[in-house]
Amino acid sequence: MLLSRTVSRLFAKDIAIDLGTSNTLLFESLNGIVASEASVISIDRRLHGKNPVIEVGKQAKNMLGKVAGPIIAVQPIQYGVIKDFMAVSYMVSALINRYCMRGIFSKPRIVFTVASDFLETEKESIRESIFALGIAAEVFFLEKSLASALGADMIVTAPMGNMIIDVGGGKTEVAIVSLGGIVYSVSLPIGGMYFDDEITRMIRSKYSLMIGCQTAEEIKKHFAAAIFSKKNSVNIPVKGRDQSSGNPRMAYVTSYDICQSLEMLISRLAEEVRFCLETISAELVSDIAKHGIFLTGGGSLIRYLDKYIERVVGVSVIRVKDPMCGTILGAGKIVENLEELQEFLCL
Ligand code: ADP
Ligand code: MG
Repeated sequence: MLLSRTVSRLFAKDIAIDLGTSNTLLFESLNGIVASEASVISIDRRLHGKNPVIEVGKQAKNMLGKVAGPIIAVQPIQYGVIKDFMAVSYMVSALINRYCMRGIFSKPRIVFTVASDFLETEKESIRESIFALGIAAEVFFLEKSLASALGADMIVTAPMGNMIIDVGGGKTEVAIVSLGGIVYSVSLPIGGMYFDDEITRMIRSKYSLMIGCQTAEEIKKHFAAAIFSKKNSVNIPVKGRDQSSGNPRMAYVTSYDICQSLEMLISRLAEEVRFCLETISAELVSDIAKHGIFLTGGGSLIRYLDKYIERVVGVSVIRVKDPMCGTILGAGKIVENLEELQEFLCL
Protein backbone atom coordinates (compact mmCIF):
# COMPACT_ATOMS: atom_id res chain seq x y z
CA MET A 1 0.00 0.00 0.00
CA LEU A 2 2.69 2.43 1.13
CA LEU A 3 4.91 1.27 -1.73
CA SER A 4 2.19 1.82 -4.35
CA ARG A 5 1.50 5.31 -2.97
CA THR A 6 5.19 6.15 -3.11
CA VAL A 7 5.49 4.81 -6.68
CA SER A 8 2.44 6.80 -7.76
CA ARG A 9 4.16 9.98 -6.57
CA LEU A 10 7.16 9.26 -8.77
CA PHE A 11 5.31 9.27 -12.07
CA ALA A 12 2.82 11.90 -13.17
CA LYS A 13 -0.68 10.71 -14.00
CA ASP A 14 -2.19 11.34 -17.42
CA ILE A 15 -4.57 14.27 -17.58
CA ALA A 16 -7.59 15.14 -19.73
CA ILE A 17 -8.42 18.81 -20.15
CA ASP A 18 -11.71 20.13 -21.46
CA LEU A 19 -10.97 23.68 -22.60
CA GLY A 20 -14.30 25.44 -22.83
CA THR A 21 -15.23 29.04 -23.54
CA SER A 22 -16.69 29.37 -20.04
CA ASN A 23 -15.17 26.53 -18.04
CA THR A 24 -12.01 24.44 -18.02
CA LEU A 25 -12.19 21.01 -16.41
CA LEU A 26 -9.34 18.67 -15.51
CA PHE A 27 -9.53 14.91 -15.11
CA GLU A 28 -6.56 13.10 -13.63
CA SER A 29 -6.30 9.42 -14.34
CA LEU A 30 -7.23 7.32 -11.26
CA ASN A 31 -8.45 10.45 -9.43
CA GLY A 32 -11.37 11.57 -11.63
CA ILE A 33 -12.40 15.22 -12.07
CA VAL A 34 -9.99 17.28 -10.00
CA ALA A 35 -10.86 20.80 -11.19
CA SER A 36 -13.71 22.79 -12.67
CA GLU A 37 -12.73 26.42 -13.06
CA ALA A 38 -13.80 29.44 -15.09
CA SER A 39 -11.67 29.83 -18.25
CA VAL A 40 -10.19 33.13 -17.10
CA ILE A 41 -6.64 34.19 -16.29
CA SER A 42 -5.22 37.40 -14.87
CA ILE A 43 -1.72 38.40 -15.87
CA ASP A 44 0.83 41.03 -14.91
CA ARG A 45 2.14 42.32 -18.24
CA ARG A 46 5.27 43.76 -16.64
CA LEU A 47 6.69 40.29 -15.94
CA HIS A 48 8.28 39.52 -19.32
CA GLY A 49 10.04 36.17 -19.36
CA LYS A 50 8.88 35.30 -15.82
CA ASN A 51 5.67 33.58 -14.80
CA PRO A 52 3.14 36.43 -15.22
CA VAL A 53 0.11 34.61 -13.75
CA ILE A 54 -1.69 36.34 -10.90
CA GLU A 55 -4.83 34.25 -10.71
CA VAL A 56 -6.76 31.64 -12.71
CA GLY A 57 -10.34 30.38 -12.59
CA LYS A 58 -13.06 31.84 -10.38
CA GLN A 59 -10.73 34.34 -8.67
CA ALA A 60 -9.59 35.66 -12.06
CA LYS A 61 -13.24 35.81 -13.22
CA ASN A 62 -14.02 38.09 -10.27
CA MET A 63 -11.34 40.46 -11.60
CA LEU A 64 -12.95 40.82 -15.06
CA GLY A 65 -13.67 44.48 -15.76
CA LYS A 66 -12.23 45.51 -12.40
CA VAL A 67 -8.48 45.71 -13.03
CA ALA A 68 -6.46 48.33 -14.84
CA GLY A 69 -2.91 49.27 -15.83
CA PRO A 70 -0.41 46.47 -16.35
CA ILE A 71 -2.71 43.85 -14.80
CA ILE A 72 -5.26 42.31 -17.13
CA ALA A 73 -7.92 39.65 -16.67
CA VAL A 74 -8.70 37.83 -19.93
CA GLN A 75 -10.87 35.06 -21.29
CA PRO A 76 -8.40 33.43 -23.69
CA ILE A 77 -11.13 31.35 -25.37
CA GLN A 78 -13.90 33.37 -26.93
CA TYR A 79 -17.02 32.00 -28.58
CA GLY A 80 -15.31 28.60 -28.83
CA VAL A 81 -12.10 29.91 -30.43
CA ILE A 82 -8.70 30.15 -28.71
CA LYS A 83 -7.62 33.78 -29.02
CA ASP A 84 -4.39 33.58 -27.01
CA PHE A 85 -2.47 30.26 -26.98
CA MET A 86 0.16 31.41 -24.52
CA ALA A 87 -2.50 32.60 -22.04
CA VAL A 88 -4.25 29.22 -22.39
CA SER A 89 -0.98 27.43 -21.66
CA TYR A 90 -0.29 29.57 -18.60
CA MET A 91 -3.83 28.87 -17.41
CA VAL A 92 -3.41 25.12 -17.96
CA SER A 93 -0.03 25.15 -16.24
CA ALA A 94 -1.41 26.99 -13.19
CA LEU A 95 -4.39 24.61 -12.95
CA ILE A 96 -2.19 21.51 -13.21
CA ASN A 97 0.16 22.87 -10.54
CA ARG A 98 -2.77 23.61 -8.26
CA TYR A 99 -4.88 20.49 -8.73
CA CYS A 100 -2.75 17.61 -10.04
CA MET A 101 -0.05 15.47 -8.47
CA ARG A 102 3.42 16.27 -9.68
CA GLY A 103 5.57 13.32 -10.78
CA ILE A 104 9.22 13.33 -9.79
CA PHE A 105 10.44 11.32 -12.77
CA SER A 106 7.89 12.07 -15.46
CA LYS A 107 5.56 14.70 -16.85
CA PRO A 108 1.93 13.90 -17.64
CA ARG A 109 0.58 13.08 -21.06
CA ILE A 110 -2.26 15.50 -21.75
CA VAL A 111 -5.39 14.93 -23.83
CA PHE A 112 -7.12 18.16 -24.85
CA THR A 113 -10.69 18.13 -26.08
CA VAL A 114 -11.10 20.22 -29.22
CA ALA A 115 -14.00 21.27 -31.44
CA SER A 116 -14.48 19.41 -34.69
CA ASP A 117 -13.39 22.49 -36.68
CA PHE A 118 -10.13 22.91 -34.72
CA LEU A 119 -7.35 23.44 -37.24
CA GLU A 120 -4.00 21.64 -37.54
CA THR A 121 -2.22 24.96 -37.09
CA GLU A 122 -4.15 25.52 -33.85
CA LYS A 123 -3.07 22.08 -32.58
CA GLU A 124 0.52 22.99 -33.40
CA SER A 125 0.19 26.29 -31.50
CA ILE A 126 -1.17 24.49 -28.42
CA ARG A 127 1.64 21.92 -28.58
CA GLU A 128 4.32 24.57 -28.97
CA SER A 129 3.13 26.70 -26.08
CA ILE A 130 2.55 23.70 -23.78
CA PHE A 131 6.03 22.31 -24.53
CA ALA A 132 7.55 25.79 -24.15
CA LEU A 133 6.33 25.80 -20.53
CA GLY A 134 7.54 22.21 -20.03
CA ILE A 135 4.18 21.03 -18.72
CA ALA A 136 3.64 17.80 -20.64
CA ALA A 137 5.52 14.80 -21.98
CA GLU A 138 3.06 14.36 -24.84
CA VAL A 139 -0.01 16.18 -26.11
CA PHE A 140 -3.01 14.53 -27.77
CA PHE A 141 -6.35 15.81 -29.01
CA LEU A 142 -9.83 14.33 -28.78
CA GLU A 143 -12.90 15.70 -30.54
CA LYS A 144 -15.33 17.16 -28.03
CA SER A 145 -18.40 15.48 -29.53
CA LEU A 146 -16.76 12.08 -29.28
CA ALA A 147 -15.81 12.81 -25.68
CA SER A 148 -19.36 13.97 -24.89
CA ALA A 149 -20.78 10.80 -26.46
CA LEU A 150 -18.44 8.64 -24.35
CA GLY A 151 -19.40 10.71 -21.30
CA ALA A 152 -23.07 10.00 -22.00
CA ASP A 153 -22.26 6.25 -22.03
CA MET A 154 -23.13 5.89 -25.71
CA ILE A 155 -21.76 2.85 -27.49
CA VAL A 156 -19.68 4.79 -29.96
CA THR A 157 -17.83 1.93 -31.63
CA ALA A 158 -20.90 0.18 -33.06
CA PRO A 159 -22.14 0.95 -36.60
CA MET A 160 -25.00 2.91 -35.10
CA GLY A 161 -25.77 6.63 -35.30
CA ASN A 162 -25.93 8.62 -32.05
CA MET A 163 -26.72 12.31 -32.02
CA ILE A 164 -25.29 14.60 -29.38
CA ILE A 165 -25.94 18.33 -29.00
CA ASP A 166 -23.44 20.21 -26.82
CA VAL A 167 -24.69 23.68 -25.90
CA GLY A 168 -21.55 25.34 -24.53
CA GLY A 169 -20.81 28.89 -23.48
CA GLY A 170 -19.70 30.16 -26.89
CA LYS A 171 -21.10 27.69 -29.39
CA THR A 172 -23.29 24.68 -29.94
CA GLU A 173 -21.96 21.55 -31.61
CA VAL A 174 -24.41 19.16 -33.18
CA ALA A 175 -22.74 15.85 -34.05
CA ILE A 176 -23.52 12.32 -35.08
CA VAL A 177 -21.14 9.66 -33.85
CA SER A 178 -20.86 6.16 -35.32
CA LEU A 179 -18.11 3.52 -35.53
CA GLY A 180 -15.82 5.45 -33.21
CA GLY A 181 -15.83 8.56 -35.40
CA ILE A 182 -17.83 11.64 -36.19
CA VAL A 183 -19.95 11.20 -39.29
CA TYR A 184 -21.63 14.60 -39.21
CA SER A 185 -20.93 17.74 -37.28
CA VAL A 186 -21.92 21.36 -37.37
CA SER A 187 -20.85 24.18 -35.11
CA LEU A 188 -23.43 26.92 -34.49
CA PRO A 189 -22.96 30.45 -33.13
CA ILE A 190 -25.42 29.77 -30.30
CA GLY A 191 -24.60 29.22 -26.62
CA GLY A 192 -24.74 30.52 -23.08
CA MET A 193 -22.97 33.82 -23.84
CA TYR A 194 -25.31 34.54 -26.75
CA PHE A 195 -28.24 33.95 -24.38
CA ASP A 196 -26.68 36.41 -21.90
CA ASP A 197 -26.25 38.98 -24.71
CA GLU A 198 -29.91 38.66 -25.72
CA ILE A 199 -31.07 39.16 -22.13
CA THR A 200 -28.82 42.23 -21.77
CA ARG A 201 -30.10 43.70 -25.04
CA MET A 202 -33.75 43.11 -24.17
CA ILE A 203 -33.43 44.71 -20.71
CA ARG A 204 -31.70 47.72 -22.24
CA SER A 205 -34.27 48.27 -24.97
CA LYS A 206 -37.45 47.38 -23.03
CA TYR A 207 -36.55 48.60 -19.54
CA SER A 208 -33.91 51.27 -20.42
CA LEU A 209 -31.61 49.56 -17.97
CA MET A 210 -27.98 48.63 -18.57
CA ILE A 211 -26.72 45.49 -16.82
CA GLY A 212 -23.38 43.69 -16.74
CA CYS A 213 -22.72 40.26 -18.20
CA GLN A 214 -22.53 38.54 -14.80
CA THR A 215 -26.00 39.87 -13.88
CA ALA A 216 -27.38 38.65 -17.22
CA GLU A 217 -25.87 35.21 -16.61
CA GLU A 218 -27.42 34.98 -13.14
CA ILE A 219 -30.86 35.97 -14.49
CA LYS A 220 -30.54 33.31 -17.18
CA LYS A 221 -29.50 30.56 -14.76
CA HIS A 222 -32.42 31.25 -12.45
CA PHE A 223 -35.26 32.36 -14.71
CA ALA A 224 -34.67 31.47 -18.37
CA ALA A 225 -36.86 28.84 -19.97
CA ALA A 226 -37.29 27.67 -23.55
CA ILE A 227 -41.04 27.29 -23.07
CA PHE A 228 -42.92 29.91 -21.08
CA SER A 229 -45.22 28.64 -18.38
CA LYS A 230 -47.72 31.00 -16.70
CA LYS A 231 -47.48 28.89 -13.57
CA ASN A 232 -43.83 29.89 -13.03
CA SER A 233 -44.25 33.50 -14.12
CA VAL A 234 -42.39 35.98 -11.87
CA ASN A 235 -41.28 39.60 -11.80
CA ILE A 236 -37.53 39.68 -11.24
CA PRO A 237 -35.94 42.65 -9.43
CA VAL A 238 -32.91 43.63 -11.52
CA LYS A 239 -30.36 46.26 -10.53
CA GLY A 240 -28.51 48.20 -13.21
CA ARG A 241 -27.80 51.65 -14.54
CA ASP A 242 -30.45 53.89 -16.03
CA GLN A 243 -29.71 54.33 -19.73
CA SER A 244 -30.40 58.07 -19.88
CA SER A 245 -29.44 59.40 -16.43
CA GLY A 246 -26.62 56.92 -15.76
CA ASN A 247 -27.84 56.56 -12.16
CA PRO A 248 -28.30 53.19 -10.42
CA ARG A 249 -31.89 51.97 -10.75
CA MET A 250 -33.93 48.82 -10.21
CA ALA A 251 -36.56 47.43 -12.57
CA TYR A 252 -38.92 44.48 -12.33
CA VAL A 253 -38.30 42.33 -15.39
CA THR A 254 -40.88 39.68 -16.26
CA SER A 255 -39.87 36.08 -16.78
CA TYR A 256 -42.05 36.21 -19.93
CA ASP A 257 -39.71 38.85 -21.41
CA ILE A 258 -36.68 36.71 -20.54
CA CYS A 259 -38.16 33.72 -22.38
CA GLN A 260 -39.15 35.89 -25.35
CA SER A 261 -35.63 37.30 -25.64
CA LEU A 262 -34.19 33.79 -26.14
CA GLU A 263 -36.89 32.55 -28.50
CA MET A 264 -35.07 33.40 -31.72
CA LEU A 265 -31.79 31.67 -30.76
CA ILE A 266 -33.53 28.60 -29.37
CA SER A 267 -35.78 28.17 -32.39
CA ARG A 268 -32.73 28.51 -34.66
CA LEU A 269 -30.98 25.78 -32.68
CA ALA A 270 -33.98 23.45 -33.00
CA GLU A 271 -34.30 24.22 -36.72
CA GLU A 272 -30.62 23.36 -37.24
CA VAL A 273 -31.18 20.01 -35.54
CA ARG A 274 -34.19 19.38 -37.78
CA PHE A 275 -32.13 20.33 -40.84
CA CYS A 276 -29.41 17.90 -39.76
CA LEU A 277 -31.94 15.07 -39.45
CA GLU A 278 -33.25 15.89 -42.94
CA THR A 279 -29.73 15.79 -44.40
CA ILE A 280 -28.43 12.45 -43.09
CA SER A 281 -29.25 8.97 -44.31
CA ALA A 282 -32.52 7.24 -43.36
CA GLU A 283 -30.51 4.53 -41.53
CA LEU A 284 -28.87 7.07 -39.25
CA VAL A 285 -32.21 8.80 -38.61
CA SER A 286 -33.82 5.53 -37.60
CA ASP A 287 -30.94 4.80 -35.14
CA ILE A 288 -31.32 8.25 -33.64
CA ALA A 289 -35.11 7.96 -33.40
CA LYS A 290 -34.66 4.67 -31.55
CA HIS A 291 -32.25 5.99 -28.90
CA GLY A 292 -33.18 9.66 -28.75
CA ILE A 293 -31.01 12.75 -29.08
CA PHE A 294 -28.61 13.50 -26.22
CA LEU A 295 -28.29 17.04 -24.93
CA THR A 296 -25.25 18.19 -22.96
CA GLY A 297 -23.22 21.31 -22.06
CA GLY A 298 -24.02 23.99 -19.46
CA GLY A 299 -26.22 25.90 -21.93
CA SER A 300 -28.55 22.90 -22.09
CA LEU A 301 -29.58 23.61 -18.49
CA ILE A 302 -32.04 26.22 -19.78
CA ARG A 303 -35.35 24.87 -18.53
CA TYR A 304 -37.42 22.92 -21.07
CA LEU A 305 -34.77 23.17 -23.81
CA ASP A 306 -35.03 19.40 -24.23
CA LYS A 307 -38.84 19.60 -24.58
CA TYR A 308 -38.60 22.49 -27.05
CA ILE A 309 -36.25 20.62 -29.40
CA GLU A 310 -38.32 17.46 -29.00
CA ARG A 311 -41.46 19.30 -30.15
CA VAL A 312 -39.73 20.73 -33.21
CA VAL A 313 -37.95 17.58 -34.42
CA GLY A 314 -40.34 14.88 -33.21
CA VAL A 315 -37.57 12.74 -31.67
CA SER A 316 -37.16 12.32 -27.92
CA VAL A 317 -34.40 14.48 -26.42
CA ILE A 318 -32.57 13.35 -23.29
CA ARG A 319 -30.53 15.78 -21.21
CA VAL A 320 -27.50 13.92 -19.78
CA LYS A 321 -27.19 13.56 -16.00
CA ASP A 322 -24.47 16.15 -15.51
CA PRO A 323 -24.33 18.44 -18.58
CA MET A 324 -21.43 20.56 -17.27
CA CYS A 325 -19.19 17.49 -16.92
CA GLY A 326 -20.26 15.28 -19.86
CA THR A 327 -17.27 16.10 -22.08
CA ILE A 328 -14.59 15.76 -19.42
CA LEU A 329 -16.03 12.46 -18.15
CA GLY A 330 -15.78 11.06 -21.68
CA ALA A 331 -12.23 12.37 -22.11
CA GLY A 332 -11.48 10.88 -18.69
CA LYS A 333 -12.45 7.43 -19.96
CA ILE A 334 -9.75 7.83 -22.60
CA VAL A 335 -6.96 8.91 -20.24
CA GLU A 336 -7.81 6.11 -17.85
CA ASN A 337 -6.84 3.77 -20.66
CA LEU A 338 -4.64 5.76 -22.99
CA GLU A 339 -2.69 2.82 -24.45
CA GLU A 340 -5.76 0.86 -25.58
CA LEU A 341 -7.93 3.80 -26.61
CA GLN A 342 -5.44 5.78 -28.72
CA GLU A 343 -7.58 5.07 -31.81
CA PHE A 344 -10.05 7.72 -30.61
CA LEU A 345 -7.43 10.45 -30.54
CA CYS A 346 -6.42 12.73 -33.34
CA LEU A 347 -2.76 13.68 -33.37
P1 ADP B 1 -18.03 25.59 -22.31
O1 ADP B 1 -17.76 24.12 -22.46
O2 ADP B 1 -18.19 26.29 -23.61
O3 ADP B 1 -17.08 26.26 -21.39
P2 ADP B 1 -20.11 24.86 -20.45
O4 ADP B 1 -20.63 23.56 -20.94
O5 ADP B 1 -19.22 24.85 -19.27
O6 ADP B 1 -19.47 25.71 -21.64
O7 ADP B 1 -21.39 25.78 -20.15
C1 ADP B 1 -21.23 27.10 -19.75
C2 ADP B 1 -22.50 27.85 -20.01
O8 ADP B 1 -23.57 27.21 -19.30
C3 ADP B 1 -22.42 29.28 -19.49
O9 ADP B 1 -22.88 30.18 -20.50
C4 ADP B 1 -23.36 29.27 -18.29
O10 ADP B 1 -23.99 30.53 -18.10
C5 ADP B 1 -24.37 28.22 -18.71
N1 ADP B 1 -25.10 27.66 -17.58
C6 ADP B 1 -24.60 27.11 -16.45
N2 ADP B 1 -25.59 26.75 -15.60
C7 ADP B 1 -26.76 27.08 -16.22
C8 ADP B 1 -28.15 26.99 -15.88
N3 ADP B 1 -28.53 26.46 -14.71
N4 ADP B 1 -29.06 27.44 -16.76
C9 ADP B 1 -28.69 27.98 -17.93
N5 ADP B 1 -27.41 28.11 -18.34
C10 ADP B 1 -26.45 27.66 -17.49
MG1 MG C 1 -17.92 22.30 -23.29
